[in-house]
Amino acid sequence: MPAAYTSELAEALAADVLDRFLRYVRVDTQSARDRNGSPSTPGQLDLSRMLVDELLAIGLEDAALDDNGYVFATLPATGEAPHAVGLIAHVDVSPDAPGAGVEPIVHRDYDGGRVELPRGGTVLDPAEMPVLATKAGHDVVTSSGDTLLGADDKAGVAEIVAAVAHLAAHPELPRPTLKVGFTPDEEVGEGASLFDVERFGAVCAYTLDGSQPGEIQDETFSGAEVTVVFEGVDIHTGWAKGKLVNAARLAGRLLAELPADTLTPETTEEREGFVHPFEVGGDAGHAQVRFIARDFDDALLGEHIALIRSTAEAVARAEPGARVTVSDRPQYPNMRRFVDAFPQVVDVAERAIRAEGIEPVREPIRGGTDGSKLSEMGLPTPNLFTGGHEYHSVREWASVHDMSSAAAVIVRLAGLWAEEPA
Ligand SMILES: [Zn+2]
Repeated sequence: MPAAYTSELAEALAADVLDRFLRYVRVDTQSARDRNGSPSTPGQLDLSRMLVDELLAIGLEDAALDDNGYVFATLPATGEAPHAVGLIAHVDVSPDAPGAGVEPIVHRDYDGGRVELPRGGTVLDPAEMPVLATKAGHDVVTSSGDTLLGADDKAGVAEIVAAVAHLAAHPELPRPTLKVGFTPDEEVGEGASLFDVERFGAVCAYTLDGSQPGEIQDETFSGAEVTVVFEGVDIHTGWAKGKLVNAARLAGRLLAELPADTLTPETTEEREGFVHPFEVGGDAGHAQVRFIARDFDDALLGEHIALIRSTAEAVARAEPGARVTVSDRPQYPNMRRFVDAFPQVVDVAERAIRAEGIEPVREPIRGGTDGSKLSEMGLPTPNLFTGGHEYHSVREWASVHDMSSAAAVIVRLAGLWAEEPA
């Protein structure tokens, strides 16, 4: 039996959300880690241009693509609401699985069982995906099995465009000034870097880039990247005795001496941080280990970085002739303190979600979002749910019912912000 929508509004938005979503996922917008410009890949511009055209057609007259591949547009307020509020999603998809040639499949009135996709031998098994089991009766969208779906984050894009189209077509619904922003290269950590916060002109914003209905994420990891470079002494192995210092072995020793049963992503959960070597390379003369370090607490993050540094230095000290350099750079901060400074942003979101008949769920994300950096840049930006799941894999799926709920929450957010005092 088909599941009910969370409201008449969600049901009214469903067809438009799905129609836009199916159109957007077919565009190959996979981003690339080696970035020589913004966006990192031209396919992202194909979708961004399509979005500009759609926003213009809806009536957002200033919709435009900027020089760095960001789409910005404004839906003016209906009344005197003092706040301009931002709605943000990213157009790119992850480089971690194939992103070209997406052929979405809509499974109407999903029966709650295993879903065998036609390509790649991909199976969605509710025994292994407990959230999927709860979506019986929903319309569920998957890929054909050999690509990403791209719900991360085209679900968010479709929800924003459908909600804004609904508001533009219903001027009797109160709304503040809404600022729409679609970013490139979020999946390679650069979605916020060239975001023109001043031009955007919003007092706060929401990214639509989460999963389960009700989610509001106002806390993220703080993240840093740490690079350790060992310089050895490379001598012909025939006369190396007492002279050769092998940098590759030093890199191995560093990895062996760091904790393995704690402080790793595979042994931690909830609020625990970690250090994670994600790339090792080199030869006898020169070796490099790249790490990410993560924690919710900035002081603890500093300790994780210091642990890598002191361990690397001890490894090098034990080997006369070896040299080591350790460098670190911040990637994104925990957004919490920036969002806390403007409590209305989460308060209004919670009320909008409740108004849609959903219980808000506030939990920290073990990762970062565009909103982490945007919050630090002066635009408090928590993250809201979109209805998509199993991101960055060929098993990615999304519920049309939940996507429609997310679009309805945006319409309700607009109504509540229209009444917020300055
Ligand atoms: Zn995302």
